[in-house]
Amino acid sequence: MDYQLPKGTFDILPAFEKEPWQRSAVWQFLEEVLRNTAQDFGFREIRTPIYERSELFQRSVGETSDIVTKEMFTFLDRGGRSLSLRPEGTASVIRAFLEHNLSQKAHVHKFFYCGPMFRYERPQSGRYRQFHQFGVEAIGAKDPAQDAEVIDLLCEIYRRLGLPKIIVQLNSVGDAESRQNFREALQNHLRPHFSVLSPESQLRFEKNPLRILDSKDPKDIELLAHAPSIQNFLSPASREHFDAVCRYLTQNDITYELNDKIVRGLDYYTNTVFEVTSSALGAQNAIGAGGRFDGLISSLGGPNLPAVGFALGMERALQTLLASQAVIPEETGPLLYLLPLGEEARSACFRVATACRRQKISAEVDFYSKKIQTGLQQAIRLKATLCAVVGSEELLKKTAQIKHLENHTQEEVPFEEISTYCKRFLSV
Ligand code: AMP
Repeated sequence: MDYQLPKGTFDILPAFEKEPWQRSAVWQFLEEVLRNTAQDFGFREIRTPIYERSELFQRSVGETSDIVTKEMFTFLDRGGRSLSLRPEGTASVIRAFLEHNLSQKAHVHKFFYCGPMFRYERPQSGRYRQFHQFGVEAIGAKDPAQDAEVIDLLCEIYRRLGLPKIIVQLNSVGDAESRQNFREALQNHLRPHFSVLSPESQLRFEKNPLRILDSKDPKDIELLAHAPSIQNFLSPASREHFDAVCRYLTQNDITYELNDKIVRGLDYYTNTVFEVTSSALGAQNAIGAGGRFDGLISSLGGPNLPAVGFALGMERALQTLLASQAVIPEETGPLLYLLPLGEEARSACFRVATACRRQKISAEVDFYSKKIQTGLQQAIRLKATLCAVVGSEELLKKTAQIKHLENHTQEEVPFEEISTYCKRFLSV
Protein backbone atom coordinates (compact mmCIF):
# COMPACT_ATOMS: atom_id res chain seq x y z
CA MET A 1 0.00 0.00 0.00
CA ASP A 2 1.17 3.51 -0.72
CA TYR A 3 -0.05 5.04 2.49
CA GLN A 4 1.77 4.68 5.79
CA LEU A 5 1.78 6.37 9.14
CA PRO A 6 3.56 9.71 9.09
CA LYS A 7 6.94 9.51 10.82
CA GLY A 8 6.78 9.79 14.60
CA THR A 9 3.11 8.81 14.93
CA PHE A 10 1.36 5.60 15.91
CA ASP A 11 -2.09 4.04 15.88
CA ILE A 12 -3.99 2.91 18.95
CA LEU A 13 -5.86 -0.27 18.13
CA PRO A 14 -8.00 -2.99 19.78
CA ALA A 15 -6.44 -6.06 21.31
CA PHE A 16 -4.82 -7.50 18.20
CA GLU A 17 -2.16 -4.80 18.30
CA LYS A 18 1.13 -6.50 19.22
CA GLU A 19 2.61 -3.63 21.24
CA PRO A 20 0.60 -3.81 24.46
CA TRP A 21 0.89 -0.07 25.16
CA GLN A 22 -0.77 0.67 21.81
CA ARG A 23 -3.97 -1.17 22.69
CA SER A 24 -7.06 0.95 23.08
CA ALA A 25 -8.09 -0.85 26.30
CA VAL A 26 -4.96 0.29 28.16
CA TRP A 27 -5.46 3.88 26.95
CA GLN A 28 -9.05 3.81 28.15
CA PHE A 29 -7.93 2.48 31.52
CA LEU A 30 -5.27 5.18 31.86
CA GLU A 31 -7.61 7.98 30.82
CA GLU A 32 -10.27 6.84 33.27
CA VAL A 33 -7.84 6.74 36.20
CA LEU A 34 -6.46 10.16 35.26
CA ARG A 35 -9.90 11.76 35.00
CA ASN A 36 -11.31 10.19 38.15
CA THR A 37 -8.28 10.98 40.29
CA ALA A 38 -8.11 14.60 39.11
CA GLN A 39 -11.82 15.01 39.80
CA ASP A 40 -11.41 13.53 43.28
CA PHE A 41 -8.92 16.32 43.95
CA GLY A 42 -11.32 19.00 42.68
CA PHE A 43 -9.76 19.52 39.24
CA ARG A 44 -12.18 19.97 36.34
CA GLU A 45 -11.65 19.30 32.69
CA ILE A 46 -10.70 21.95 30.17
CA ARG A 47 -10.50 21.20 26.42
CA THR A 48 -8.84 23.65 24.09
CA PRO A 49 -8.16 23.47 20.34
CA ILE A 50 -5.12 21.49 19.23
CA TYR A 51 -3.82 24.53 17.38
CA GLU A 52 -3.41 28.13 18.47
CA ARG A 53 -1.90 31.32 17.12
CA SER A 54 1.86 30.73 16.95
CA GLU A 55 2.63 33.81 19.05
CA LEU A 56 0.97 32.22 22.08
CA PHE A 57 3.60 29.49 22.25
CA GLN A 58 6.41 31.84 21.30
CA ARG A 59 5.48 34.07 24.23
CA SER A 60 4.73 31.39 26.80
CA VAL A 61 7.11 28.53 26.04
CA GLY A 62 9.83 31.03 25.12
CA GLU A 63 11.21 32.37 21.84
CA THR A 64 14.60 30.75 22.44
CA SER A 65 13.42 27.38 23.74
CA ASP A 66 14.13 24.21 21.74
CA ILE A 67 10.41 23.59 21.46
CA VAL A 68 9.73 26.89 19.73
CA THR A 69 12.91 27.13 17.66
CA LYS A 70 13.10 23.54 16.43
CA GLU A 71 10.07 21.48 17.28
CA MET A 72 6.84 23.30 16.47
CA PHE A 73 4.55 22.30 13.63
CA THR A 74 3.80 25.78 12.29
CA PHE A 75 1.76 26.61 9.21
CA LEU A 76 -0.07 29.49 7.60
CA ASP A 77 -3.82 29.16 7.24
CA ARG A 78 -5.56 30.33 4.08
CA GLY A 79 -5.88 33.80 5.56
CA GLY A 80 -2.11 34.02 6.04
CA ARG A 81 -2.23 33.69 9.85
CA SER A 82 0.55 31.72 11.50
CA LEU A 83 -0.82 28.81 13.52
CA SER A 84 0.96 26.06 15.44
CA LEU A 85 -0.08 22.64 16.66
CA ARG A 86 0.18 22.78 20.44
CA PRO A 87 3.52 21.44 21.73
CA GLU A 88 2.29 21.44 25.36
CA GLY A 89 -0.86 22.20 27.31
CA THR A 90 -0.21 25.08 29.72
CA ALA A 91 -0.21 27.95 27.22
CA SER A 92 -3.65 27.08 25.83
CA VAL A 93 -5.12 26.66 29.32
CA ILE A 94 -3.95 30.13 30.28
CA ARG A 95 -5.13 31.61 26.97
CA ALA A 96 -8.61 30.18 27.60
CA PHE A 97 -8.55 31.29 31.23
CA LEU A 98 -7.77 34.87 30.21
CA GLU A 99 -10.10 34.92 27.23
CA HIS A 100 -13.08 33.85 29.37
CA ASN A 101 -12.17 36.23 32.18
CA LEU A 102 -12.22 33.42 34.68
CA SER A 103 -10.12 35.29 37.22
CA GLN A 104 -13.25 37.35 37.99
CA LYS A 105 -15.26 34.26 38.84
CA ALA A 106 -13.34 32.52 41.64
CA HIS A 107 -10.10 32.77 43.62
CA VAL A 108 -8.68 29.50 42.43
CA HIS A 109 -9.34 27.53 39.26
CA LYS A 110 -8.22 23.95 39.11
CA PHE A 111 -8.12 22.45 35.61
CA PHE A 112 -6.99 19.22 34.04
CA TYR A 113 -6.45 18.50 30.36
CA CYS A 114 -5.73 15.37 28.41
CA GLY A 115 -4.92 15.02 24.72
CA PRO A 116 -2.44 14.97 21.87
CA MET A 117 0.54 17.33 21.67
CA PHE A 118 2.86 17.81 18.71
CA ARG A 119 6.61 18.27 18.52
CA TYR A 120 8.80 17.82 15.49
CA GLU A 121 11.32 15.57 17.27
CA ARG A 122 14.17 13.60 15.84
CA PRO A 123 12.93 10.00 15.65
CA GLN A 124 14.20 8.16 18.74
CA SER A 125 12.84 5.56 21.04
CA GLY A 126 10.02 6.79 23.23
CA ARG A 127 9.74 10.17 21.45
CA TYR A 128 6.92 10.78 19.03
CA ARG A 129 5.82 13.72 16.91
CA GLN A 130 2.26 13.26 18.07
CA PHE A 131 2.20 12.18 21.70
CA HIS A 132 -0.25 12.61 24.56
CA GLN A 133 -0.08 14.51 27.80
CA PHE A 134 -2.29 14.74 30.82
CA GLY A 135 -1.74 17.78 32.97
CA VAL A 136 -3.21 19.90 35.71
CA GLU A 137 -2.97 23.61 36.48
CA ALA A 138 -4.13 25.30 39.68
CA ILE A 139 -4.41 28.97 38.77
CA GLY A 140 -4.63 31.70 41.40
CA ALA A 141 -3.16 29.43 44.04
CA LYS A 142 -0.21 30.87 45.91
CA ASP A 143 -0.39 28.77 49.05
CA PRO A 144 2.39 26.16 49.43
CA ALA A 145 -0.37 23.68 50.33
CA GLN A 146 -1.41 23.89 46.67
CA ASP A 147 2.05 22.76 45.53
CA ALA A 148 1.80 19.81 47.91
CA GLU A 149 -1.71 18.96 46.72
CA VAL A 150 -0.59 18.91 43.09
CA ILE A 151 2.35 16.63 43.96
CA ASP A 152 0.04 14.38 45.96
CA LEU A 153 -2.32 14.15 42.98
CA LEU A 154 0.51 12.95 40.76
CA CYS A 155 1.49 10.33 43.36
CA GLU A 156 -2.12 9.23 43.83
CA ILE A 157 -2.49 8.74 40.07
CA TYR A 158 0.43 6.31 40.05
CA ARG A 159 -0.86 4.59 43.17
CA ARG A 160 -4.20 3.99 41.46
CA LEU A 161 -2.48 2.86 38.29
CA GLY A 162 -0.69 0.22 40.31
CA LEU A 163 2.79 1.75 40.40
CA PRO A 164 3.31 2.60 44.06
CA LYS A 165 7.13 2.63 44.04
CA ILE A 166 7.75 6.06 42.67
CA ILE A 167 10.09 8.75 43.87
CA VAL A 168 9.25 12.44 44.17
CA GLN A 169 12.29 14.61 43.51
CA LEU A 170 11.85 18.12 44.74
CA ASN A 171 13.68 21.38 44.36
CA SER A 172 13.10 25.10 44.40
CA VAL A 173 14.40 27.41 41.69
CA GLY A 174 13.46 30.35 43.89
CA ASP A 175 12.21 33.71 42.75
CA ALA A 176 13.98 36.13 40.39
CA GLU A 177 16.22 37.40 43.21
CA SER A 178 17.30 33.89 44.23
CA ARG A 179 18.06 32.95 40.65
CA GLN A 180 20.10 36.07 39.97
CA ASN A 181 22.37 35.28 42.93
CA PHE A 182 22.66 31.63 42.03
CA ARG A 183 23.35 32.34 38.38
CA GLU A 184 26.51 34.24 39.23
CA ALA A 185 27.72 31.57 41.62
CA LEU A 186 27.13 28.84 39.05
CA GLN A 187 28.92 30.78 36.32
CA ASN A 188 31.87 31.39 38.67
CA HIS A 189 32.06 27.68 39.38
CA LEU A 190 31.93 26.64 35.71
CA ARG A 191 34.00 29.45 34.15
CA PRO A 192 37.43 27.81 34.74
CA HIS A 193 36.11 24.66 32.99
CA PHE A 194 34.31 26.45 30.16
CA SER A 195 36.40 24.83 27.42
CA VAL A 196 35.44 21.28 28.48
CA LEU A 197 31.72 21.95 28.79
CA SER A 198 29.55 20.36 26.11
CA PRO A 199 28.84 22.67 23.14
CA GLU A 200 25.24 22.95 24.23
CA SER A 201 26.18 23.98 27.78
CA GLN A 202 28.67 26.50 26.40
CA LEU A 203 25.79 28.11 24.52
CA ARG A 204 23.72 28.20 27.68
CA PHE A 205 26.53 29.61 29.80
CA GLU A 206 25.67 33.27 29.22
CA LYS A 207 22.05 33.05 28.12
CA ASN A 208 20.63 30.64 30.64
CA PRO A 209 23.24 28.96 32.85
CA LEU A 210 20.62 27.27 35.05
CA ARG A 211 19.67 25.05 32.14
CA ILE A 212 23.20 23.59 32.23
CA LEU A 213 21.94 21.66 35.27
CA ASP A 214 19.60 19.80 32.88
CA SER A 215 22.55 18.51 30.82
CA LYS A 216 22.80 14.78 30.22
CA ASP A 217 26.42 15.04 29.05
CA PRO A 218 28.63 12.88 31.36
CA LYS A 219 31.45 15.46 31.49
CA ASP A 220 28.98 18.24 32.37
CA ILE A 221 27.46 16.05 35.06
CA GLU A 222 30.90 15.48 36.55
CA LEU A 223 31.61 19.23 36.60
CA LEU A 224 28.25 19.89 38.18
CA ALA A 225 28.79 17.41 41.02
CA HIS A 226 30.52 20.06 43.13
CA ALA A 227 28.64 23.06 41.79
CA PRO A 228 26.96 25.37 44.29
CA SER A 229 23.40 24.43 45.21
CA ILE A 230 20.50 26.74 44.46
CA GLN A 231 19.14 25.67 47.83
CA ASN A 232 21.78 27.95 49.42
CA PHE A 233 20.72 30.96 47.38
CA LEU A 234 17.00 31.09 48.07
CA SER A 235 15.62 34.46 49.13
CA PRO A 236 13.87 34.47 52.55
CA ALA A 237 10.44 34.38 50.86
CA SER A 238 11.41 31.47 48.61
CA ARG A 239 12.99 29.60 51.52
CA GLU A 240 9.82 30.00 53.55
CA HIS A 241 7.63 28.80 50.67
CA PHE A 242 9.81 25.76 50.02
CA ASP A 243 10.00 24.78 53.70
CA ALA A 244 6.20 24.98 53.91
CA VAL A 245 5.80 22.72 50.84
CA CYS A 246 8.15 20.18 52.46
CA ARG A 247 6.20 20.36 55.72
CA TYR A 248 2.89 19.68 53.95
CA LEU A 249 4.37 16.74 52.09
CA THR A 250 5.78 15.24 55.29
CA GLN A 251 2.51 15.76 57.14
CA ASN A 252 0.69 13.85 54.42
CA ASP A 253 3.20 10.97 54.31
CA ILE A 254 4.40 11.87 50.83
CA THR A 255 8.04 10.90 50.74
CA TYR A 256 10.34 13.01 48.62
CA GLU A 257 14.00 13.50 47.91
CA LEU A 258 15.69 16.84 47.60
CA ASN A 259 17.38 17.11 44.18
CA ASP A 260 19.00 20.49 43.66
CA LYS A 261 19.86 19.64 40.04
CA ILE A 262 16.23 19.79 38.91
CA VAL A 263 15.49 23.08 37.20
CA ARG A 264 12.97 22.00 34.50
CA GLY A 265 13.46 23.00 30.90
CA LEU A 266 11.11 25.95 30.66
CA ASP A 267 12.07 29.40 31.81
CA TYR A 268 8.86 30.38 33.49
CA TYR A 269 9.16 28.21 36.60
CA THR A 270 9.43 29.87 40.02
CA ASN A 271 9.98 28.31 43.43
CA THR A 272 8.78 24.70 43.52
CA VAL A 273 9.88 22.30 40.77
CA PHE A 274 9.51 18.54 40.91
CA GLU A 275 9.81 15.31 38.97
CA VAL A 276 8.40 11.92 39.74
CA THR A 277 10.60 9.03 38.66
CA SER A 278 10.34 5.27 38.49
CA SER A 279 13.15 2.82 37.93
CA ALA A 280 10.88 0.52 35.88
CA LEU A 281 12.06 1.83 32.50
CA GLY A 282 15.72 2.01 33.53
CA ALA A 283 17.82 4.93 34.63
CA GLN A 284 16.03 7.83 36.24
CA ASN A 285 13.05 8.26 34.01
CA ALA A 286 10.65 11.07 34.78
CA ILE A 287 7.05 9.92 34.59
CA GLY A 288 5.61 13.30 35.45
CA ALA A 289 7.00 16.70 36.22
CA GLY A 290 5.91 20.18 37.01
CA GLY A 291 6.21 23.17 39.23
CA ARG A 292 5.08 26.63 40.05
CA PHE A 293 4.94 29.32 37.37
CA ASP A 294 3.97 32.54 39.09
CA GLY A 295 5.08 34.93 36.36
CA LEU A 296 3.59 33.30 33.28
CA ILE A 297 0.05 34.63 33.39
CA SER A 298 1.09 38.26 33.73
CA SER A 299 3.68 37.81 31.00
CA LEU A 300 0.83 36.79 28.68
CA GLY A 301 -0.98 40.03 29.46
CA GLY A 302 -3.14 38.72 32.28
CA PRO A 303 -3.36 39.64 35.96
CA ASN A 304 -0.49 38.85 38.26
CA LEU A 305 -1.70 35.41 39.30
CA PRO A 306 0.35 32.54 40.67
CA ALA A 307 -0.11 28.99 39.38
CA VAL A 308 1.20 25.50 39.89
CA GLY A 309 0.80 22.34 37.83
CA PHE A 310 2.33 19.27 36.23
CA ALA A 311 2.20 17.28 33.02
CA LEU A 312 2.80 13.64 32.37
CA GLY A 313 3.55 11.89 29.10
CA MET A 314 0.91 9.22 28.62
CA GLU A 315 2.99 6.98 26.33
CA ARG A 316 5.73 6.85 28.88
CA ALA A 317 3.28 6.30 31.73
CA LEU A 318 1.86 3.27 29.92
CA GLN A 319 5.25 1.88 28.95
CA THR A 320 6.38 2.22 32.56
CA LEU A 321 3.28 0.49 33.87
CA LEU A 322 3.68 -2.39 31.46
CA ALA A 323 7.39 -2.72 32.20
CA SER A 324 6.66 -2.92 35.91
CA GLN A 325 4.04 -5.63 35.44
CA ALA A 326 1.25 -3.50 36.87
CA VAL A 327 -2.12 -5.13 36.30
CA ILE A 328 -3.91 -3.43 33.44
CA PRO A 329 -7.44 -4.59 32.71
CA GLU A 330 -7.86 -6.49 29.46
CA GLU A 331 -10.42 -5.46 26.89
CA THR A 332 -13.79 -6.92 27.85
CA GLY A 333 -15.93 -8.79 25.33
CA PRO A 334 -19.71 -8.73 24.92
CA LEU A 335 -21.81 -10.36 27.61
CA LEU A 336 -23.96 -12.07 25.00
CA TYR A 337 -22.82 -13.43 21.66
CA LEU A 338 -25.76 -14.48 19.47
CA LEU A 339 -25.05 -17.22 17.00
CA PRO A 340 -27.85 -17.74 14.48
CA LEU A 341 -27.66 -20.73 12.15
CA GLY A 342 -29.57 -19.77 9.02
CA GLU A 343 -31.26 -16.76 7.49
CA GLU A 344 -34.41 -16.69 9.63
CA ALA A 345 -32.54 -17.31 12.87
CA ARG A 346 -30.41 -14.32 11.99
CA SER A 347 -33.29 -11.85 12.02
CA ALA A 348 -34.63 -13.37 15.27
CA CYS A 349 -31.19 -12.97 16.87
CA PHE A 350 -30.92 -9.40 15.60
CA ARG A 351 -34.23 -8.63 17.37
CA VAL A 352 -33.04 -10.23 20.62
CA ALA A 353 -29.77 -8.26 20.41
CA THR A 354 -31.70 -5.02 19.94
CA ALA A 355 -33.85 -5.75 23.00
CA CYS A 356 -30.73 -6.44 25.06
CA ARG A 357 -28.89 -3.31 23.90
CA ARG A 358 -31.91 -1.13 24.77
CA GLN A 359 -31.34 -2.40 28.32
CA LYS A 360 -27.61 -1.66 28.19
CA ILE A 361 -26.61 -5.29 27.88
CA SER A 362 -23.67 -5.67 25.51
CA ALA A 363 -24.65 -8.05 22.74
CA GLU A 364 -23.17 -8.99 19.41
CA VAL A 365 -24.74 -10.99 16.58
CA ASP A 366 -22.66 -13.26 14.39
CA PHE A 367 -23.89 -12.44 10.89
CA TYR A 368 -21.24 -14.54 9.20
CA SER A 369 -20.48 -17.93 10.71
CA LYS A 370 -22.16 -20.82 8.93
CA LYS A 371 -21.13 -23.55 11.36
CA ILE A 372 -21.61 -23.71 15.10
CA GLN A 373 -17.93 -24.54 15.65
CA THR A 374 -16.59 -21.46 13.86
CA GLY A 375 -19.19 -19.30 15.61
CA LEU A 376 -18.17 -20.59 19.04
CA GLN A 377 -14.50 -20.02 18.26
CA GLN A 378 -15.34 -16.46 17.31
CA ALA A 379 -17.29 -15.97 20.57
CA ILE A 380 -14.29 -17.19 22.56
CA ARG A 381 -11.89 -15.00 20.59
CA LEU A 382 -14.03 -11.96 21.35
CA LYS A 383 -14.09 -12.92 25.05
CA ALA A 384 -17.87 -13.22 25.16
CA THR A 385 -19.37 -14.58 28.38
CA LEU A 386 -22.55 -16.20 27.07
CA CYS A 387 -23.21 -17.58 23.60
CA ALA A 388 -26.85 -17.97 22.47
CA VAL A 389 -27.13 -20.52 19.66
CA VAL A 390 -30.29 -20.44 17.55
CA GLY A 391 -30.69 -23.30 15.05
CA SER A 392 -33.80 -24.39 13.16
CA GLU A 393 -35.15 -26.41 16.10
CA GLU A 394 -34.78 -23.49 18.54
CA LEU A 395 -36.28 -21.14 15.98
CA LEU A 396 -39.49 -23.18 15.91
CA LYS A 397 -39.71 -23.08 19.70
CA LYS A 398 -38.62 -19.38 19.79
CA THR A 399 -35.79 -20.22 22.18
CA ALA A 400 -31.99 -20.13 22.27
CA GLN A 401 -29.45 -22.53 23.78
CA ILE A 402 -27.40 -20.29 26.01
CA LYS A 403 -23.91 -21.64 26.58
CA HIS A 404 -21.80 -20.38 29.46
CA LEU A 405 -18.43 -20.23 27.79
CA GLU A 406 -16.47 -20.45 31.00
CA ASN A 407 -17.99 -23.55 32.61
CA HIS A 408 -19.54 -25.16 29.51
CA THR A 409 -23.04 -25.42 30.98
CA GLN A 410 -26.05 -24.72 28.82
CA GLU A 411 -29.67 -23.63 29.30
CA GLU A 412 -32.60 -23.20 26.94
CA VAL A 413 -34.17 -19.74 27.27
CA PRO A 414 -37.19 -18.28 25.37
CA PHE A 415 -36.33 -15.28 23.17
CA GLU A 416 -38.35 -12.80 25.20
CA GLU A 417 -36.65 -13.83 28.43
CA ILE A 418 -33.08 -13.54 27.20
CA SER A 419 -32.52 -9.93 28.31
CA THR A 420 -33.89 -10.70 31.79
CA TYR A 421 -31.72 -13.81 31.89
CA CYS A 422 -28.64 -11.70 31.07
CA LYS A 423 -29.53 -9.13 33.71
CA ARG A 424 -29.95 -11.83 36.32
CA PHE A 425 -26.62 -13.30 35.27
CA LEU A 426 -24.94 -9.89 35.70
CA SER A 427 -26.42 -9.37 39.16
CA VAL A 428 -25.04 -12.61 40.62
P1 AMP B 1 7.82 18.35 28.86
O1 AMP B 1 6.56 19.04 28.46
O2 AMP B 1 8.91 18.46 27.83
O3 AMP B 1 8.25 18.67 30.26
O4 AMP B 1 7.48 16.77 28.87
C1 AMP B 1 6.64 16.20 29.81
C2 AMP B 1 6.54 14.72 29.51
O5 AMP B 1 5.92 14.56 28.23
C3 AMP B 1 7.86 14.00 29.37
O6 AMP B 1 8.27 13.48 30.60
C4 AMP B 1 7.57 12.89 28.40
O7 AMP B 1 7.09 11.76 29.08
C5 AMP B 1 6.47 13.46 27.57
N1 AMP B 1 6.99 13.89 26.25
C6 AMP B 1 7.51 15.06 25.89
N2 AMP B 1 7.84 15.06 24.58
C7 AMP B 1 7.50 13.84 24.11
C8 AMP B 1 7.59 13.21 22.84
N3 AMP B 1 8.06 13.85 21.78
N4 AMP B 1 7.15 11.94 22.73
C9 AMP B 1 6.64 11.29 23.79
N5 AMP B 1 6.54 11.82 25.01
C10 AMP B 1 6.97 13.09 25.17
